[in-house]
Amino acid sequence: MARVLLHMCCGPCSITTIKELQSEGLEITGFFYNPNIHPTKEYLRRREGALEVANRFDIKVIMRDQEYDPQKWFRTMCYREENRCFHCYAMRMERAFSIGRKGNFDYVTTTLLYSRMQKHEDIKKLGEDMAQGGSAKFLYRDFRTGWKEGIETSKDWGVYRQQYCGCLYSEGDRYAKEFKETCGLKK
Ligand code: SF4
Repeated sequence: MARVLLHMCCGPCSITTIKELQSEGLEITGFFYNPNIHPTKEYLRRREGALEVANRFDIKVIMRDQEYDPQKWFRTMCYREENRCFHCYAMRMERAFSIGRKGNFDYVTTTLLYSRMQKHEDIKKLGEDMAQGGSAKFLYRDFRTGWKEGIETSKDWGVYRQQYCGCLYSEGDRYAKEFKETCGLKK
């Protein structure tokens, strides 16, 4: 049975992703490495959600809590804010490929391919490039086809659902309107 290392960003995005891969007869191991989630309390909520989903599907998860380093993440994004998502994907996927190769996995993939909110083509291209010359291949699927089902299941299961992508920039964008209205600032 082929072994897949699945980078998991959160619980809701993992549901249809794991379900689809398991239905293909693949052996899945999760990998939780997300220094882009701020603040720490939010990281803990998403961590718990990811583990809850992994538990339901009976898969193991390699945790990299010891590498949760938002300061390092911000240093990497410094002066690259406009293109930060690309670098954010790259940081997490590079780590997944590194662990995937060390662990002799056949494939590496990511739940980021599930989200309609992410830059899907950038993620796909990064995965293809990172797999070049390495032992672990990139497993590409367009998991967005299961978007609705994933949302419904996460609600049914009561899995924590985040309100913004992850970093403080995205949190600021998410609440910008409310901030301006509350503070009486011009739109
Ligand atoms: S918006 Fe999301 S993908 Fe983009 S940099 Fe922030 S956490 Fe990463």
